[in-house]
Amino acid sequence: MNRRLSMALPSKGRLREPSWSLLEASGVDPQEPGERVLQAHCRNADIDLLFVRADDVPEYVQDGVVDCGITGLDLIYERDCDVEVLLRLGFGTCSLQAAVSAEDSATRFEDLEGRRIATSHPRIAARILAERGINAEIVRVAGSVEISPRLGLADAIIDLVSTGSTLRTNGLRSIGTLFESEAVLVGRTGSTDLEARRTLTMVLGSVINARANRYLLLNVAKERLAEVTAVLPTKGSPTVIDLATPGVVAVHALVPAADIWSLLPKLEACGASSILTLPVERMVR
Ligand code: AMP
Repeated sequence: MNRRLSMALPSKGRLREPSWSLLEASGVDPQEPGERVLQAHCRNADIDLLFVRADDVPEYVQDGVVDCGITGLDLIYERDCDVEVLLRLGFGTCSLQAAVSAEDSATRFEDLEGRRIATSHPRIAARILAERGINAEIVRVAGSVEISPRLGLADAIIDLVSTGSTLRTNGLRSIGTLFESEAVLVGRTGSTDLEARRTLTMVLGSVINARANRYLLLNVAKERLAEVTAVLPTKGSPTVIDLATPGVVAVHALVPAADIWSLLPKLEACGASSILTLPVERMVR
């Protein structure tokens, strides 16, 4: 008999809302937890949800408290947990960067030799500095890393950056990226409950793939069909359907959402008309 799958979700912070909306979009119909409620169920799937801090998820999964969970890749490396990354989720993207005061002379990692570096990611920082043969003193801080140089606590910082605006606001300048992170679905290494986990990974993956694509429909005169197919950024073959009007076909294709903006004028120039783009709900390759 299939055992219920337990899954840890971030209860607060940056990863909470996008994790929840991914689960909702997957169709498992998660029950909204009440105030201070730590557990919930899904109406359409045998999945129990546990709401915990994103930085506790790697340990919960590693220790078998839950079968799988959503957390940041940086947190897995920082906690040095033995878990399996099942799926990259495409949100919570950020990079761990080294930064110094704007007026500092440092321009490369090597310039951090012998200096004091504040970070809330001491393990990753120490590992990467060691790999590059840089000797630096690491000062562990829990939060507000960016103000450490101004407080005289450190000469440099190693911190997560997404837009870079926090660095700029605090008069800091990046001198390079150590590590790229994003939210991931992780499972216990060597878990025996592979079937339910595989299903969850496939369903969440189908939503992530779908979000990155649009379904394109258009009409075009048959003699210009080759021009249209030549500009389509599609890997597979588009669907071509004869219309009731002789000499005109409809073309249907899946195209990357990021390409739509540059594609539309090209399609117009090829004589395409009645161009529609629709969101895709699921996409299983
Ligand atoms: P939380 O502290 O709960 O808001 O979650 C922090 C996690 O969100 C980090 O470990 C990263 O995986 C992710 N994240 C994405 N962008 C950023 C950012 N600019 N600063 C900090 N964390 C970020």
